[in-house]
Amino acid sequence: MTRRSPVVLLAVLAALTLAGPALAQTIPAPKEVLGFEVGADYHLATYQQAYKYFKALEQASPMIKVHEIGKTAMGKPMIYAVITSQANMARLERYREITRKLSLVEGLTDDQARALAAEGRVVVYIDGGLHASECAPAQHNIQLAYDLLTATDPQTRAIRDNVILVLVFANPDGMDLLAEWYHPNVGTPFEVSPMPWLYHKYVGHDNNRDSYMGNMPETGHINRIVNEEWLPEVLYNHHQTAPFPARIWIHPAAEPQTPYTHPLLVRWQNQFGTAMGTAFDREGKPGAISRTVFDSWYPGYVTQVADSHNVISLLTETALYRYATPRFYTVDEFPEPYRDFTVSTFYPNPWKGGWWRLRDAVDYCLTASKAVLTTASNYRQDLLYDKYQMGRDTIAKFRKEPPYGWIVPAGQWDPPAAALMLEKLRRNGIRIFKADRDFVADGISYPSGTWVLPMTQPFALFAKAMLEEQRYPDLAKYPDAWQGLVATRSFTDAYLPPYDMAGWTLPYQFGVKATAAHTPIEVPLTPLDQVTPPAARAEGAGTFWVISPKLNNAFTAVNRILKQGGEVLRAREPFAAGSEALPPGAFIVTKGLTAATADTLARELAVPMVATSKPASARSLKLKAPRVAMYQPWTASADEGWTRWLLEQFEFPFTSIHDGDVRAGGLDTNFDVLVIASSSTEALVNGHKPGTVPPQYVGGMTDNGVRNVKQFVESGGTLVLINNAALFGIDRLGLPVTNVLKDLRAPSRRESAEAKPVEFACPGSVLRMQFDPKHPVAFGMPEEAPGVFTDGPAFRLNPVFDAKDGKAPEVVARYPSSGLLMSGWLKGEKYLQNTVAAADVPLGKGRVILLGFGVQQRAQPHGTFKLLFNAIYYGASQTVGNGK
Ligand SMILES: [Zn+2]
Repeated sequence: MTRRSPVVLLAVLAALTLAGPALAQTIPAPKEVLGFEVGADYHLATYQQAYKYFKALEQASPMIKVHEIGKTAMGKPMIYAVITSQANMARLERYREITRKLSLVEGLTDDQARALAAEGRVVVYIDGGLHASECAPAQHNIQLAYDLLTATDPQTRAIRDNVILVLVFANPDGMDLLAEWYHPNVGTPFEVSPMPWLYHKYVGHDNNRDSYMGNMPETGHINRIVNEEWLPEVLYNHHQTAPFPARIWIHPAAEPQTPYTHPLLVRWQNQFGTAMGTAFDREGKPGAISRTVFDSWYPGYVTQVADSHNVISLLTETALYRYATPRFYTVDEFPEPYRDFTVSTFYPNPWKGGWWRLRDAVDYCLTASKAVLTTASNYRQDLLYDKYQMGRDTIAKFRKEPPYGWIVPAGQWDPPAAALMLEKLRRNGIRIFKADRDFVADGISYPSGTWVLPMTQPFALFAKAMLEEQRYPDLAKYPDAWQGLVATRSFTDAYLPPYDMAGWTLPYQFGVKATAAHTPIEVPLTPLDQVTPPAARAEGAGTFWVISPKLNNAFTAVNRILKQGGEVLRAREPFAAGSEALPPGAFIVTKGLTAATADTLARELAVPMVATSKPASARSLKLKAPRVAMYQPWTASADEGWTRWLLEQFEFPFTSIHDGDVRAGGLDTNFDVLVIASSSTEALVNGHKPGTVPPQYVGGMTDNGVRNVKQFVESGGTLVLINNAALFGIDRLGLPVTNVLKDLRAPSRRESAEAKPVEFACPGSVLRMQFDPKHPVAFGMPEEAPGVFTDGPAFRLNPVFDAKDGKAPEVVARYPSSGLLMSGWLKGEKYLQNTVAAADVPLGKGRVILLGFGVQQRAQPHGTFKLLFNAIYYGASQTVGNGK
């Protein structure tokens, strides 16, 4: 119905007149723009519709402004809205300045801070839609904006007066991809089928594992809103995976608590969580649960990065069925402990089953958001002052105790990687400096120009989280302290894995030397607006150009040279070029590179290019532009997406291939190298089961595809298997390799754990590894370096007695005999000691390269990207000279 009856209209007008300004008269309701109510069964608003609606709101109300923060990975404008009273809107720049001053602390006395807190407004950031398949939060944004602009009750008025809301659509591409997938399937047998591709161009669900790195454009935009543009007091990141049968998960969080937060922040999180719970029970919405499943340990999430910036982060997980399809639940579907509706401190109002619709989820999101805004409004002054106090205390703490700062010398194995690591910290609000002269710290001399990160800055806890080694707390030591607080599971074996990674130390991941200062650093410093690598240029005289294999950017340079038809060799022996002795694997450009182009490449990529007339090396590999196939499964793999993104960044040409291509065979005519990102063998071979998705996405590569992959290798191709995909090589290609961890896999936090002793666990940590830099896959690697282990395999290479050509598997990397753990958590080190981490396994005329750990995990470990890059080059090269 579109026309209102006159009687109703009069009643509405009367109500509005009594309530104050007639706000609702001109502001379009969502239905007028979308064509359906927010959260209606079988209807998802697209981002385009939401965009149109927010533009309409901006036209109709002076209390909302819409901003574009940048473009998405797929090129859409990414918008956010600022919503506050008209009076606040008029003074917005002043309020932004106040929250900035309080956040950055510098130069304020406590009295000045109190005065600013009294004057200021609380900035609350709320986003929806980060995980696009969790549909309700993005839809809720639409209704929340409408409600806040039109409601006239005292609570909403107070919110508008005291709060500046920054309302963000966190994944616009995903919102459209989901709606475009779902709507045509409604009413078909595939209405609730999973989408066969990621809900982001590259990373899908891992868009909430990217926050400290900011690899994706959307993450960068969110970090800029939070750390540069608005510096909010509160950040609320909506999700939709409640622990069944609970209807929403709210703070307090599960253990363990991250140590990289001010205690006030944790108190505020609990207070906001309690306010949400209270609101649910007041409104008769049962099923709010706390203290289970979701911890705050890993800082890759949107929320945890905010925490260490003194931004009170809130996570909720509302219940989800699928898309906008309703579902009726009966109690006998519940897990056994929930069937008798036992009440508990952190689940006092159990949900008893029944219908669950998208609109129910939207309503829960609205209740939670409004509780956050009300709490922010009620505690406006305290929140503003506490933001200041958290920063003030952090600065004071590191005036008195180590680490006083971090020192990063410019002379590094891979200097551009070191600069990039620091630049990523800078973009996350950390101030980086250069030493103006030579200095000594802790008895070590550093030259002028050394990078210094002093800890006397308000967000120093974030720097500490990124730079130091993590020591994940072992529940086995304190089972009583945590008993029953973590999940509904037995603690007989006291095994508590983190929700995600246990250790992530950036200098280890980047292969960068960064030293903590145990005494105050005393040297004049100059702040940097951008951290750039030491300048490089082309130098020397001669007909060959030599490039060090130690630098990741060397691969970008070589890819450009190959693309332009240049000829490139890789020396298999150490090689001296100019003043530097290069390890095996140095690139020697023998043809097709002018001095001018060499200089441009050197300057642009910070890669020194050295001309020489000396012949390179008797033994070398001749590269050709690699023809790479990147396998893209219909099971939507984030690891595949990350790998694809990484190859693009370093300008490797590749073609994405799907199950149909693998089943069809003939891969050897088009490709030299096939890359398969981490996946289970089951997913690779069998994919989606028949009936669960439309027929064209059913099944994996199938047995036929397995035969074709084998034929591709046997006829000379190179298969690169990353992390768990290595098991495909072992299980299905018959490689003479054993996974020594086969029967030792520990359950994840999400999996129901029986009281089974856990012998081995390493759910995501940085481990010490030894590399063979003479092997072409480890060219340019140090002999010892950190690698990221994430529930992957570890190998024993079996003797080959019947190899016709006598080729045996070769070790590329192995775990040392002791001291493996560098950061995170490792239980049962003995199982990994002396085992193989990466191997080159001959098969017919080709080879399978097993990279059995996260060499490129989430595009973070710059220190081990080279293994993937080298493997690709090795597969597209031929031996020249007196090679073996
Ligand atoms: Zn989520």
